[in-house]
Amino acid sequence: MKKTSLLLFFLLFYAALSAQTRNQADIKLFRYGNFDKERPAVEYPDGTRLDVSSFGEDFDEKFFATDGVKRLQSWLVTHAAKCATVALHERYGSCVARPSKIVAIGLNYAEHVKEGSGATTSAAIPSEPVIFFKATTALCGPFDDVIIPKGAQKLDWEVELAVIIGKRASYVSEAEAMDYVAGYTVINDYSERFWQLEKDGGQWDKGKSADSFAPLGPYLVLAENLANPQQLDLWLSVNGKTRQQANTRDMIYNIAKLISYTSEHMTLLPGDVISTGTPSGVGLAQKPPVYLRPGDVVALGIDHVGVQKQHVVSFAQSQSQGQK
Ligand code: ZN
Repeated sequence: MKKTSLLLFFLLFYAALSAQTRNQADIKLFRYGNFDKERPAVEYPDGTRLDVSSFGEDFDEKFFATDGVKRLQSWLVTHAAKCATVALHERYGSCVARPSKIVAIGLNYAEHVKEGSGATTSAAIPSEPVIFFKATTALCGPFDDVIIPKGAQKLDWEVELAVIIGKRASYVSEAEAMDYVAGYTVINDYSERFWQLEKDGGQWDKGKSADSFAPLGPYLVLAENLANPQQLDLWLSVNGKTRQQANTRDMIYNIAKLISYTSEHMTLLPGDVISTGTPSGVGLAQKPPVYLRPGDVVALGIDHVGVQKQHVVSFAQSQSQGQK
């Protein structure tokens, strides 16, 4: 009898302890609700989704700069039980609040460089990483419609692994670079090829920055929970047909190099996004080229990181639906 109650005591003690320490290390961050009014939330491996608005912070520069992830994890130990759950039908927003910049890397997969040789992009493997920007206003949720901009003809897709910077990075060495990563997510680096490559006025940013051109999410997967970010399958399909399929090991310049190199040219702030480049299979490189039309459905994903899906709408449709 005494033995049984002792065992019971330990079982109860263990249960209480595991509820307290309930996998706070394994949370994924996401944001939900209406565009530009998103609320911060976390998801546990068992699918439990909690609104963490009462923590009092969004997933923004200040949050990451002040060790927000660790602080949120310890806050959850005592507050998770009081957090409201997030319903499954809620819209996902970008998994981080609008950052100071979205740095994107061009021509970072050899097969993609090669496929560009027949098209309008240059064919040579770049001797240094190619850097361009996407406007931060292009940011949107992972399941939002992608809008063909007014007058545009050549909307194209690009699945990419996005790195979210965790702390201010300036002149960071490659050896230290991975310590500057908060986590990873999926981005579709939508591109208007005429505006990027053919229109007068040089440079790519015009074709990379329209509203809805940077769906980011659904989840920020914490860096410590992703065993090897250079060993992830990534894929993209259009109307069910696979268009891109590769692995992040195929990057020409790895993540550490990209962070280090970028930090030699600009200061990266917490919450900033580095989009690490796309593999082969973009629409521009098809023969003949294939561009997205209203009604098309683009699905994409990266193993252990997340999946996205976007419906393509015309500018006029987006206006009548009241989107921006
Ligand atoms: Zn890209």
